[in-house]
Amino acid sequence: MLRIGCHLSSSKGFLAMGKEAVRIGANTFQFFTRNPRGGNAKKLDLEDVASYLEYAQAHGISSILAHAPYTLNACAKDPDLRDFTYRTMCDDLSRLSHIPDAMYNFHPGCHVKQGAEAGIQYISGMMGRILEHGYHTPILLETMAGKGTEMGRSFEELQRILEQTEGGDCLGICLDTCHVFDGGYDIAGRLDDVLSEFDAVIGLGRLKAIHLNDSKSGLGSHKDRHEKIGQGKIGLEAFRAIVAHPRLQGLPFFLETPNDLDGYQQEIALLRGFAAGGSLAEGELPEL
Ligand code: FE
Ligand code: FE
Ligand code: ZN
Repeated sequence: MLRIGCHLSSSKGFLAMGKEAVRIGANTFQFFTRNPRGGNAKKLDLEDVASYLEYAQAHGISSILAHAPYTLNACAKDPDLRDFTYRTMCDDLSRLSHIPDAMYNFHPGCHVKQGAEAGIQYISGMMGRILEHGYHTPILLETMAGKGTEMGRSFEELQRILEQTEGGDCLGICLDTCHVFDGGYDIAGRLDDVLSEFDAVIGLGRLKAIHLNDSKSGLGSHKDRHEKIGQGKIGLEAFRAIVAHPRLQGLPFFLETPNDLDGYQQEIALLRGFAAGGSLAEGELPEL
């Protein structure tokens, strides 16, 4: 069964997110570890976590994705911001040790005029120091659109970070469909080729999660503006192919489209239909 969910607000805690996920037909979800633009995290409510874990088990929720805040920048020029990033990620990862089956996703960072090579060295250096702690939560780097000086704009750049990181064999990748499309990878026209390219450069074994977003902007636009599934430049047919693709089976899919919960519920139902092979438009008759 397709593992799919969407981004949920973590303000009411884990059990509330679990229940919300089930209500909209999801069997996984993503959440911010703390305010995406702020610093401090609320104290982890271990009772809430315990009730959530029981609920998740009973309702088949798994592979949830914790998203790091946007304020982090592992390759910032300012050493204080790099230190803040390091401490925040360590704190997030130690909190996540209470949620056995979660993964942790972060944006690699922006090199801000230091150049991509310096960015790679800063990010891989910091990842190496974080991995020394031996956290059990898998850490994923997100593919980025390449807006401004964003790192992770190409498979090659992500691979450089992975190979430069000491102990980096355990790092994974979260592929964001809007970001790779805006980054110039034509998943709408040449999905098989893009996946083969990912496999050749990084290795599909490293791919651990997919962010499912249509894009308001064109191929290679480097914009990063998410759109509802089927209403953007990537288009419905691409998403049908993505969720049913043999090389992507078993991966968790997370919607980050501009939607309320009802909208997410509809997209989840639509994508479940696609994954089950529902290729007919409404009212169309099957060929016998
Ligand atoms: Fe993200
Ligand atoms: Fe994303
Ligand atoms: Zn985005």
